[in-house]
Amino acid sequence: MKRNSGEKIGKLAVVRTVADLRRHVAAWHRAGDTVALVPTMGALHAGHLALVTRGKELCDRAVVSIFVNPTQFGPNDDFTRYPRDEAGDAAKLVRSRCDLLYAPGVGEMYPAGFATTVTTGAIAERLDGHFRPGHFAGVATVVTKLLLQAQADVACFGEKDYQQLHVIHRCVCDLDIAIHIEGVPTVREPDGLAMSSRNAYLTPPQRAIAPALHRMLRSTAERLGRGETSVAAAMEAAIAELLRAGFSKIDYVETCDVQMLLPLDRVDRPGRILAAAWLGTTRLIDNVPVLPAG
Ligand code: AMP
Repeated sequence: MKRNSGEKIGKLAVVRTVADLRRHVAAWHRAGDTVALVPTMGALHAGHLALVTRGKELCDRAVVSIFVNPTQFGPNDDFTRYPRDEAGDAAKLVRSRCDLLYAPGVGEMYPAGFATTVTTGAIAERLDGHFRPGHFAGVATVVTKLLLQAQADVACFGEKDYQQLHVIHRCVCDLDIAIHIEGVPTVREPDGLAMSSRNAYLTPPQRAIAPALHRMLRSTAERLGRGETSVAAAMEAAIAELLRAGFSKIDYVETCDVQMLLPLDRVDRPGRILAAAWLGTTRLIDNVPVLPAG
């Protein structure tokens, strides 16, 4: 059998092929270690690193993958300008006690002749699925590949991408992929803005407006939780508040149930308020839990 390739960035071991990734993970499993996988698109921030920390709490080893997946971007999306900083990411991963970086190229993930994709169901059709056609099929396909490539015991995903977390749960369950999916709470800037690689696109004036998204979600959840307003009125008020704050376009603000992410008319059970809104050419998403009154 071939030996593990010895590439390193700083102190971090890096592999770029499925075969090398599997050799590392198999060796750890043979030694009795459990393994967590943290799939990312890089440009790492404290939100990503919280997933690594959670992975290391649950498992002996953590692998982080960095792959900016072209198939989950639409034709007008930000694939080409998406931030990339492998050396900076590697330094952060060393400090987070990551054991291995998996950074495949597009040719490794989608070799010539690639043809098989994952189709996502109803849970991927609304909300972001409606505004970003094909996005969740791209996510489900690449995540399925990463999970099968790594053969890890646990994979960590952020609640920041709440619908994505649901799509992945559904996918793993439907395709009998033997892995535990761990959801990790959203990490925020001190002013409440959910950390995101895309925050780097914001101009200083836009950055000043951006925390209004989380402020609106929190106050809406509180008012709904106190039974002060109907869901319909709260959603209308929320959109008006975002526009007043300076958001240029609102894709959606919706209160949904936490099983199927279907719209709730009344908060009579635990729900989630999800929103997507634009500041110029940058699209921000966020979500918070909402609990029934009393
Ligand atoms: P991305 O690199 O944006 O594709 O994100 C990779 C993973 O990090 C996904 O599971 C995201 O949900 C998660 N993530 C991104 N931002 C945050 C955040 N602020 N807090 C927690 N997890 C996050």
